[in-house]
Amino acid sequence: MLILGENLLEKMIAHSRAALPNEACGLLAGSIDGAGVKNAEEVYCMKNVDESPEHFSMSSAEQFAAVADMRRRGIVLLGNFHSHPGTPARPSEEDIRLAFDRSLSYLIVSLARPEPVLKSFIIDKDGHSVTEERLVSR
Ligand SMILES: [Zn+2]
Repeated sequence: MLILGENLLEKMIAHSRAALPNEACGLLAGSIDGAGVKNAEEVYCMKNVDESPEHFSMSSAEQFAAVADMRRRGIVLLGNFHSHPGTPARPSEEDIRLAFDRSLSYLIVSLARPEPVLKSFIIDKDGHSVTEERLVSR
């Protein structure tokens, strides 16, 4: 389960809308409790250096700065997010191919409809499974 701290949902949606017509991307960080529940405290919005409506690559300089900020604050990487400007909030074949860590949450913001949809997934490439993760917003 992933719990989003205050305003994080709004922050991801605003970043996704600002990047249109291209995909937007970023990282989520926070803490994991003893039961494995992820508490997201921060969202780092990143530049999509691909500048594409179908692909994304996070700026490496921004990723480096985000990891430095996480270390300073004592929080850990929980996952990442990207937007789908015109398709549903479901991992694409490429999203699954590029997923590298089944402990991370892979969030997708779909802007295909007027009302944005945010979903989180656990992608286990070795087990060939994509599971929707329970997502709660504070
Ligand atoms: Zn995608």
